[in-house]
Amino acid sequence: MPLSQVDTPALILELDAFERNLDRMQSLTRAARIALRPHAKAHKTPAIALAQLQRGAVGICCQKVSEALPFVQAGVRDIHISNEIAGPAKARMLAAMAQHARLSVCVDHPAQVQWLGDAMKNARSGAKPENASRRLGVLIEIDIGQQRCGVDSPDGALGLLDALARHPSLHFQGLQAYHGGLQHIRSRTQRRDAAQRAAARTSTYVDALENAGQACPTVTGGGTGSVEFDCESGVYTEVQPGSYALMDGDYGRNETEGPWRFEQSLFIASAVMSTRQGEAGCRVVVDAGLKSIAVDSGLPRVWQPGGEPSPFDYTAANDEHGIVQVLDAARWPLELETRLLLVPSHCDPTLNLHDQIVCVRAQEAGWHVECLWPVSARGLSR
Ligand SMILES: *Cc1c(COP(=O)(O)O)cnc(C)c1O
Repeated sequence: MPLSQVDTPALILELDAFERNLDRMQSLTRAARIALRPHAKAHKTPAIALAQLQRGAVGICCQKVSEALPFVQAGVRDIHISNEIAGPAKARMLAAMAQHARLSVCVDHPAQVQWLGDAMKNARSGAKPENASRRLGVLIEIDIGQQRCGVDSPDGALGLLDALARHPSLHFQGLQAYHGGLQHIRSRTQRRDAAQRAAARTSTYVDALENAGQACPTVTGGGTGSVEFDCESGVYTEVQPGSYALMDGDYGRNETEGPWRFEQSLFIASAVMSTRQGEAGCRVVVDAGLKSIAVDSGLPRVWQPGGEPSPFDYTAANDEHGIVQVLDAARWPLELETRLLLVPSHCDPTLNLHDQIVCVRAQEAGWHVECLWPVSARGLSR
């Protein structure tokens, strides 16, 4: 079916651009000899994770325990929860999943270590004998400037190491050092400087642990905005970018150069449902609003292929309406049912609004639907 016949609003993935993004990230990280563990919170879609693993990703990241379950069920065998857990119930769910896949999780407080150790002990006592030796990987998260989670001193990290040593079912894997705030610094030089400062902070922790006799096999972190600098830092052994597969308006505004440039592959297909010609120009209303596009990082952009300035301005989003001003209505008359492709400003929460991805590929007569992928990990509330 041609894209023009797909009912709207719909989440669209252009497969050629998407596959080029996956290939590019895989070959750049491989050339740098850094493991790639893409973040799945960007897409919540097992089919995408499997495409990344097939190209050589070592595993994936998830942002919460429940998000990981559809990926385990789809056959993903190595998942890092790049976050802390909030209580023993989540530790029990994680321990149950750890009987079926290689899992790891972050800690920044001894209580989390206790919950995880207790849950693993109980899960193992009920496990099949062949699984009874499974251990849960634990990474100590360090705060390298984001002021979100993570211990804020090497002594804090050493204290957690002591706590971990009391639990034979837990296994120290290394450090997580992620700085979300620097990913969207627009200037490439300023972003590089900030990433280098964050990496320098990370290496003081690695050194402190090594001085105490504890090696850090894994140092993981980094996102789409910092990955090129993390790969050359000499500190990270693994990177966790997520958005690069899809891209969005916010990342599109980052200044990039060289090979580390990723293409927009994600769109929302919308259709004009009302038009009004006024003195100030033409206003049309499309059927994609807050219930199909996240606007926490700004309103969507109307896609203009080839990067030309768009004659359309998406100016307001209501639940199921998007208001679009047509700046040159004489040249761009929009009629009812006209299709507009929108670029969301933030991919992650946008994916969370949709049950499926409509995957399209360019043919001579335009984009045609190739397959549908369920967004299986969307919307899970626990
Ligand atoms: C969101 C996130 C990432 C991936 O960031 P992108 O901007 O999507 O590339 C990596 N690690 C952690 C801990 C994150 O929260």
